Amino acid sequence: MTISKDQTMLYLNGVSVSFDGFRALNALSIIVHPNEMLAIIGPNGAGKTTMMDIITGKTRPDDGEVLFDGRTDLTKLDEADIANLGIGRKFQKPTVFESHTIWDNIVLALKKPRGVFSAFSYMASGADTARITEILDTVRLTKRKDDLAANLSHGQKQWLEIGMLLAQDPKLLLVDEPVAGMTDSETFETAKLLKEIALTRSVVLVEHDMSFVRELGTRVTCLAEGTVLAEGTLDQVSANPVVIERYLGR
Ligand code: ADP
Ligand code: MG
Repeated sequence: MTISKDQTMLYLNGVSVSFDGFRALNALSIIVHPNEMLAIIGPNGAGKTTMMDIITGKTRPDDGEVLFDGRTDLTKLDEADIANLGIGRKFQKPTVFESHTIWDNIVLALKKPRGVFSAFSYMASGADTARITEILDTVRLTKRKDDLAANLSHGQKQWLEIGMLLAQDPKLLLVDEPVAGMTDSETFETAKLLKEIALTRSVVLVEHDMSFVRELGTRVTCLAEGTVLAEGTLDQVSANPVVIERYLGR
């Protein structure tokens, strides 16, 4: 690779991993720059989730380099260390505290030294209040701040969870199919809010909804069989005959 590692937020080079002899990732190389969003597409079984598992330390690669912020070797760290470094991961199913307000959900997620006091009895400082207000604004939930999370729509719960990740102030956000099950207007709004988030941090997003990926307007990488099939704009990637044959045309 010709790219300098030290200008990258995420650097995967030749990453391979096998499960019982099956190669889920096969010399995968991917780069994400600071304040850049990368959309990953590709058929089921392509290795997209496995790639996220490698980045977050859930799975160890058999081979290859995985660097964060141009220098930190993620293959040497455990999941908690990696989260603390500033890598946040959003899974498909939202996991919010249903019986608490939207505001308190963000409070609970704020980066705080643990064990000093109970998070639930914690009073937000002025700086925290400003930060929570800003996060709720970003995830379009300001008007709902005093409602219980249980009363949010599925799409709004996804936004709340994104807000809870932002409360941890990650440098890199990994998002797996955020718009699955969302209404069209929620999907459109999600594209806008993720673009705003990617102005100040890196985002890697796995997605099947091509109209949503088009809305994002980001660089696209198509994976298949554990490796990169094509990269470029969505138009470039979706015009690629191999991508059509192996993914889009199915
Ligand atoms: P995608 O997210 O692109 O659909 P995955 O990363 O989930 O693909 O899976 C890639 C391949 O690796 C699949 O064939 C899957 O069955 C296999 N795989 C993923 N994780 C494991 C695991 N922990 N054990 C065994 N096989 C796995
Ligand atoms: Mg997956």
